[in-house]
Amino acid sequence: MHEHVTQARIDLAAAFRWAARLGFHEAVANHFSLALTEDGSRFLIQPRGRHFSRVRASELLVVDADGRVLEGAGAVDPTAFHIHSAIHRGVPQARCILHTHMPYATALACIEGGRLEPISQNALRFHGRIAYDEDFAGMALASDEGARLCAALGDKPVLFMGNHGVTVAGASVAAAFDELYFLEKACETQILAMSSGRPLKRVPHAIAEKTCKQWLEYPDLAQLHFTELKRILDQEEPDYAD
Ligand SMILES: [Zn+2]
Repeated sequence: MHEHVTQARIDLAAAFRWAARLGFHEAVANHFSLALTEDGSRFLIQPRGRHFSRVRASELLVVDADGRVLEGAGAVDPTAFHIHSAIHRGVPQARCILHTHMPYATALACIEGGRLEPISQNALRFHGRIAYDEDFAGMALASDEGARLCAALGDKPVLFMGNHGVTVAGASVAAAFDELYFLEKACETQILAMSSGRPLKRVPHAIAEKTCKQWLEYPDLAQLHFTELKRILDQEEPDYAD
């Protein structure tokens, strides 16, 4: 158990560091969390006010379902607690939850009827796997907003939060981070394609379904990706694992 939690801390810290390198962070807002218990009632999250590029494994907080900090120094951000706690408890298979305002995905969330279109190989990974919430109601400062977002996500790994950003859920940090990475790449391609003013070239439904299946069955893609990112961090900024 102890070793498991140590590795969980290192993985989540690596996700923060790499997200910062990719420009997925926003000031000291946005949050990543990882469930430590089966029912999601206890999870790791960063202390309030910490920049993604400075997060260390050992300083991640352990928080319970009531928002109490059980381990670590510092406070948990209230909006982060409402969103992450509700999803960890309501969707227990969502072990790792990554919430960002990353630029291209957020741009798409701010377009009337904005949908990830089946126009690129990367986008097809998400075919039928995205939930869209259109009912932005201000910052998530109350628990009912967390419950609403949890219901909107359902069993999908990706939630587009209209007028706000995205939330990605996965079975592990590696799985969720890989989804986050490819989601932003797919959104970037779509926004660039839309900016040409030319018609989008949509792939037929059957091809989209086939390609999505190929993505999901591709062996070890997320794990290989994330392992390599950690190797680079081990060389270039090893204090993430402290
Ligand atoms: Zn947000």
